[in-house]
Amino acid sequence: MDFYTAYNENGDLAKFEIDEGKVKCGHCGKIYYQERYEQVPGFREVDDDICPYCHESNGRSGDWEFFNRKIED
Ligand SMILES: [Zn+2]
Repeated sequence: MDFYTAYNENGDLAKFEIDEGKVKCGHCGKIYYQERYEQVPGFREVDDDICPYCHESNGRSGDWEFFNRKIED
């Protein structure tokens, strides 16, 4: 598990989680690569987990920001 640092809602540097791994789309069944960044409290926005193949949403979260990409082979 990785971390990044950012200023939190109090203006203090804090560590936030980065998670990454392969995810299977619930719509088209393809496997894509996903990076998730924990959102900073006080600056959270709802983000959609969009499949890079079929562009359908596999859920949304106010806790994570999603960066999805196709797996090249
Ligand atoms: Zn899909």
